[in-house]
Amino acid sequence: MKLLVTGGAGYVGSVCAAHLVDAGHDVTVLDDLSTGHKDAVPDGARFVEADLADAADAADDVLSDGFDGVLHFAAKSLVGESVQRPELYWNGNVVTSFRLLEAMRRHRTPRLVFSSTAATYGEPEQVPIREDAPTRPTNPYGASKLAIDHAIGSYAAAHGLAAVSLRYFNVAGAHGSFGERHAVETHLIPIVLQVASGTRDAVQVYGEDWPTPDGTCVRDYIHVDDLADAHLLALEHAQPGRHAVYNLGSGTGFSVREVVEACRAVTGHPIPAVAAPRRAGDPAVLIASSDAAKAALGWRPQRTDLATIVGDAWEFTRNRTP
Ligand code: UDP
Repeated sequence: MKLLVTGGAGYVGSVCAAHLVDAGHDVTVLDDLSTGHKDAVPDGARFVEADLADAADAADDVLSDGFDGVLHFAAKSLVGESVQRPELYWNGNVVTSFRLLEAMRRHRTPRLVFSSTAATYGEPEQVPIREDAPTRPTNPYGASKLAIDHAIGSYAAAHGLAAVSLRYFNVAGAHGSFGERHAVETHLIPIVLQVASGTRDAVQVYGEDWPTPDGTCVRDYIHVDDLADAHLLALEHAQPGRHAVYNLGSGTGFSVREVVEACRAVTGHPIPAVAAPRRAGDPAVLIASSDAAKAALGWRPQRTDLATIVGDAWEFTRNRTP
């Protein structure tokens, strides 16, 4: 298929673009490089540097060429920033996605796979979280992604778009030289590995008094390669006029302490950890039910053990640390 990958120079976008190229698709990456990296665009993909927020309408220009589908990763994705500066999220996520949907409608682009998030659910009433759980996001990031999901649903119903929203839990790991490299890192596994590689002194554990077995927060870590597999399956299974929503996680929860321990085992580094106050907005436990993705897409996550996820992230970190 001829595919447009927005945000294909970022972490998840670049890994998915690499999988798409390997599978023989004709891939164009569109990215404004605000948080992505040009050298993360995989060989074999065309690259267009453009900002979806520009009034010049970058998506319209590119899509006028005729595409079979769009994978839409380009987004702002920091929970804390979204609370401080919600305008960046309503504009950077909702307005840009609306422009993209309109460009797809004008140029009759038939398929869309969208990066949604577990943050659309907010504090869960039940774990594992299923797709029919209430959506009550606790921050503008989750709210902006949920608004886009609603917009996509209405475009599918009214305009025949074949659409799939994939709600990611905690994405981690790396795909060879494609991995997580944010200017300001906030995610647990890259931070812990920065300690192991000597670029940070210690990891702060945000709260040790949560209602969990060891008192630290529990999350569902999914390997970025498993996530990419789901995107390729979603593209194949998307049906005109239907908006499907699937959670993507490994289905197992690991505590912050367990993650730190796994990183110690993989790296052989003592990794000092210090207690710190709870981080605002953190739910105690987030675990996905991915039964729907497994049943509908035939998706089977292959790299669910923490040692594999951390091991791949560590190899990526070591290769990038001078
Ligand atoms: N966390 C932590 N120390 C850090 C970064 C994260 O204790 O330096 C915790 C955080 O409170 C959460 C878990 O690790 O419970 C995963 O956080 P991350 O930011 O990686 O992902 P999130 O679950 O917020 O999407």
